[in-house]
Amino acid sequence: MSNSDSSFDCIFCKIVKGKLPCFKVYEDKSFLAFLNVNPVNKGHVLIIPKKHYETILDMPNDALSQIILIVKKITKAILRIFNIDSCNIDINLGKEAGQIVPHVHIHIIPRFSSDEFKEWPTKQIPEEEMQEIANKIKNSL
Ligand SMILES: [Zn+2]
Repeated sequence: MSNSDSSFDCIFCKIVKGKLPCFKVYEDKSFLAFLNVNPVNKGHVLIIPKKHYETILDMPNDALSQIILIVKKITKAILRIFNIDSCNIDINLGKEAGQIVPHVHIHIIPRFSSDEFKEWPTKQIPEEEMQEIANKIKNSL
């Protein structure tokens, strides 16, 4: 997946290039943050690298370190302006995980006490399988 090819029709690359408008909340030479136009809640922000990477796995470590610091900075501002204590910080990696735009983006979703908070559904996995999965992950690092 070459960066130049996949960025051609990328909606986020178009926002970066100023070909599409956005409600900008932050910009520096490498990153951009703006309001999600389809927000889960008011104040739902997306933070993206200006360079087209499909997932965080494609990002250089230094860029990945930098983006989380921007997430922290914007999260603090969101909590302050809405006078709330909670938000979801989310990265969807891949289609099955709900990644719709194939350009890295981190969600900050403010959470209010009036939310109908939904916990993720959980599954019962047999203990043997849990151990096997843990071992496989550990041994693949
Ligand atoms: Zn892109």
